[in-house]
Amino acid sequence: MIIAIDGPAGAGKSSVAKIIAKKLGLLYIDTGAMYRALTLKALEDKIDINDTARLIEISRRTQISLRNSPDGSLEVFLDGRDVSAKIRQPQITRFVSDVARVKEVREVMLGLQRELGQNGNAVLDGRDIGTVVFPGADKKFYIDADFKERVKRRHKELLATDSKITAVEVEADLSNRDKIDSTREFAPLKKAQDALYIDTTDMTIEEVVQRILLHIKNPK
Ligand code: C5P
Repeated sequence: MIIAIDGPAGAGKSSVAKIIAKKLGLLYIDTGAMYRALTLKALEDKIDINDTARLIEISRRTQISLRNSPDGSLEVFLDGRDVSAKIRQPQITRFVSDVARVKEVREVMLGLQRELGQNGNAVLDGRDIGTVVFPGADKKFYIDADFKERVKRRHKELLATDSKITAVEVEADLSNRDKIDSTREFAPLKKAQDALYIDTTDMTIEEVVQRILLHIKNPK
């Protein structure tokens, strides 16, 4: 079974997707982590983030792989190196949407994502899974929450590793990425027509998980 979970940052996609994957014995594919890994490479190679030709070039010669570790966490490898922590740094978050809007970069990622999901047993989370990557997915969900609530959640999450980050910084990041991700020309963030929309503003992660599992078992 292929399960597609899309939505904006801070809506709870990855927490929910991870739990669903574990419960159903499916592979968890965090497609945002792949764009983040490529962004890390671009920054390490000192590539100008507006230099589209160079971004395309590195995307074609970069190896990105994901591993679901037994404790339920996700490990991300860039050219064989574990970059799981590095890709969550603010510098990466700041530029990732600029890298992800390049059509040819998306084509490379699309190929990789389809390859990873080809055994047909995966939960993928991202922005364009139900619309572009796996339009024929067995189950599609679009997870959303009020902007303020998303800022609050993301701020709390980031405080665990960065005690100085402010809510104002998180707000600026989310509104910047929301805008770029939903207005870009190729594969913008959008709900697939046949996806179930879930507003998680007043829901706990466990409630969202239960809602999704119920829909998988018993679609109405
Ligand atoms: O999911 P996460 O917030 O880690 O994603 C980081 C960024 O990667 C998003 O803001 C978006 O620009 C990009 N992305 C994308 N398509 C996906 C997944 C992520 O464009 N399927």
